[in-house]
Amino acid sequence: MDDYRTHVEIDLAAIRQNAEAIKTFTGKRLIAVVKADAYGHGVVPVTQTLRGVADMFAVATVEEGVKLRQAGVQEPILVLFSSLPNQASQVIEHGLVPTISDWGFADRLNTIASDTIKVHVNINTGMNRSGVHWTEATQFLHRLKTLDRLTVAGVFTHLATADEPDKSYVFVQIERFASVLEKIPNSGRSVHAANSAATLAVRYAYFDAVRPGLSLYGIYPASERPVALEPALTWKARIGWIGSLSEGEGVSYGLTYKAPHQSRVATVQVGYGDGYPRALSNVGEVLIGGVRRSIIGRVCMDVSVVGLESTDNVSVGDEVVLIGEQGDAEITVNELAHRAGTIPYEILTQIGARVPRIFKHESFK
Ligand SMILES: *Cc1c(COP(=O)(O)O)cnc(C)c1O
Repeated sequence: MDDYRTHVEIDLAAIRQNAEAIKTFTGKRLIAVVKADAYGHGVVPVTQTLRGVADMFAVATVEEGVKLRQAGVQEPILVLFSSLPNQASQVIEHGLVPTISDWGFADRLNTIASDTIKVHVNINTGMNRSGVHWTEATQFLHRLKTLDRLTVAGVFTHLATADEPDKSYVFVQIERFASVLEKIPNSGRSVHAANSAATLAVRYAYFDAVRPGLSLYGIYPASERPVALEPALTWKARIGWIGSLSEGEGVSYGLTYKAPHQSRVATVQVGYGDGYPRALSNVGEVLIGGVRRSIIGRVCMDVSVVGLESTDNVSVGDEVVLIGEQGDAEITVNELAHRAGTIPYEILTQIGARVPRIFKHESFK
C-alpha cells in the first residue's frame, strides 16, 4: 500500500453483507445494479463477490454487459437503457437481456435473432427520461406478442422521487405502473421498480424484485435507514510535501487562501485529475492523524493543500483519509458530496482511472 500516492480500498465483504441484508429485509429477488464500474468500486470483483446473492445484474450499456460476460459472469445481465440498433447482434451474441423502450429496437432484435430472446420492457410512469409511456404500454406489450422471437421476461419502471421525504409522487408512479400490470396476464414475469431509496423506504414499490445500486455499496440515498449498511469504499492519499507560510501568504492557484498567521501546510497527493472535486477548494476536510484538517486554497489537478495546526506531528508519506475512517474520525461519501455541492453517486463514479482499487476480502471469488 505504501506504493500509492492515492488509492481506494474496497471491502468486498461489506458489499456482500449489504446485499444479503437488503435481500433479507425485502424478501425479494435482487437485481444488483453494477453500472459505471459498480459505482466506481470495480465491477468484476463486485459481481464475483455477489455471486449467489444477486439473482441478476444490471448495467447501463451493452459495453458494460459484454465486459461482464468476458469476465466470466454467467448470471442474467440486464441492460437498463436502450441499446443502439447496431448493438442488437452483440446483445444476442453475449446473451444480455436488453431493455425495450421502443418498437424499432424490438423489431430489429426479432429480425436478426435465431433463438428466443428474453427482454424487459421499461414503462415510463413519470420519470420521463426513458421507456414506453404508461398510457400506451398495454397496447405496446400486446403488439410485442407479434414478434415471435421476443419473450417479455420482465417489466419495470423507474421512480423519480423515492429519495425525497414526500412519497406522494412515488405512489402516483406506482399506481400508473400497477394499472398497466393489471391489464397484462401475469405469466411469471419479473416485475421491478425499486431503486435503493424505494428499497429502503417504500415496500409498496417492491413487486417481485428490487433493483438497488447505491445501497449495495453501503450508502444511504436518503434519511430512511431500516437496514444497517456498511460503506465499502475508503479513499486514501499520502502527504507529499510539508511547507510553512508566513502571515498573509497565499496558497495554490489564485492564492484564494491567505494565512491568518504563521503556519504549516501539507500537500496531499490527490487532485481533480483523480476525481477529487475541485468544488472542495477552501471547503473540503480530510483526516490526518485521526483528526479533521481543512483543504486550503484551490484543489489542483494532482494535489491539494491542507492547513496544519502547530501541534500536528506529520511527515511526508503519512496517510490521509479523504473518505472513510481514521482513528475515531470519519468522513462519509455523503458528507463529501454535500460539501462539494453534489450527490454521492457523482463522487463515487468520478473517482478516476488513475486511482488504483485495492480489494479486501476477496475470498468470495
Ligand atoms: C441506476 C439505476 C438504478 C439504481 O439506483 P440507485 O439509486 O443507485 O439504487 C435502478 N434502476 C435504474 C433504471 C437505474 O438507472
